[in-house]
Amino acid sequence: FVNEIADVVAEKHPDVRLQTLAYVYSEVPPKTVRPRPNVTIRMCHYEYCEAHAIGQCDDHDVFVERLEGWSKITDSITIWDYYTNFRHYLIPYPNFESVIHHPRFYAEHNCIGLFAQGNNVREHGGGEFSALRAWVFAQLMWNPYQDGNALIDEFVDNVYGPAAPYIAEYIQLAREAVKPASMRFSIFASLEQMSYLTPDFLDRADALFEKAEAAAKGDPDLLRRVQLAHLPIHYARLQFYLVGGADYLSRERAPAVLEAFTRTMRDHQIKQFGEQFGEDAISDFVQSVKAAPEYITDWKLLGPFDNTDRAGFDTAYPPESGIDLEASYTGAGGETIHWKPYEPGRTGYVDLARVIRPDDSPGVAYAYRTFEADRNKTLQV
Ligand SMILES: [Zn+2]
Repeated sequence: FVNEIADVVAEKHPDVRLQTLAYVYSEVPPKTVRPRPNVTIRMCHYEYCEAHAIGQCDDHDVFVERLEGWSKITDSITIWDYYTNFRHYLIPYPNFESVIHHPRFYAEHNCIGLFAQGNNVREHGGGEFSALRAWVFAQLMWNPYQDGNALIDEFVDNVYGPAAPYIAEYIQLAREAVKPASMRFSIFASLEQMSYLTPDFLDRADALFEKAEAAAKGDPDLLRRVQLAHLPIHYARLQFYLVGGADYLSRERAPAVLEAFTRTMRDHQIKQFGEQFGEDAISDFVQSVKAAPEYITDWKLLGPFDNTDRAGFDTAYPPESGIDLEASYTGAGGETIHWKPYEPGRTGYVDLARVIRPDDSPGVAYAYRTFEADRNKTLQV
């Protein structure tokens, strides 16, 4: 189809090139069709591992195989690569390995162009380290054989001055956190998938940013830049807080973190914090943090009971006629089951599947807890 258009265009405009995406259904190189000389293929690298660069883990193998396939049938390939979390432009997103290694990899695989889509929020910017990435990319697209780590250092030294050592240390901390081979997160990663975002990581990051802010005292412009770099830590805490991550942020500390978050958002006029969100989403987010419910995670769980053909939902299993926390029951597959305390995860959600049915097969489970009230009142659970 693209070739036919290319032929028509070539007749009237021999100097015009057409670009077509190798994206989703069109990523696999064709077996017999060959792109016309005036067609450029724009290949997309997305939904792969963002913790490690191409060549550092086998998650990218499929992409590399396809890119090599394309480069056998055309010498006109450009790349569309993605360098942020599109759900969370503000979240700590340590993809620095990809940032410093991909331009050279593409250059050495016959690619003639790279579009690095990041988190430079419209109008005023403000995405997590978006200026740093944009500058490093600009440098590496000019000359991909420069030392990417030295470029990051150069940016940090010049932009953060006396606060630079702490910012550099934070970047190092984040890079180390995603180094293990077990780390894998993509450009649409949920909070759970960004498993490097532990309470300990955020505590250490906060300590470094507090030192950086102290070093920037007396220079209001520098302090603003440091506060912008600190913003992702506040944002991550608030996001976990919203889903009951009590270890990330206590109810006592939440107002102060929210205040620091909103002040920096306002100060930098940040308009958007994810691809699908408009400006309203920011005020909605602030409101929901203020009204965040408390999560109850100390449950006793019992299951799985049989749920073949979903019939279990209509079956009154023994706990529906009386609770005996010491009793044993016959569960799905004839297995003996008994009540177990729930071990909370990183958020306040009680993940029944993880405990009761880790293999994802159907089952019925019960959760039990008592509530005591000092007087008659309405309790929303
Ligand atoms: Zn990886």
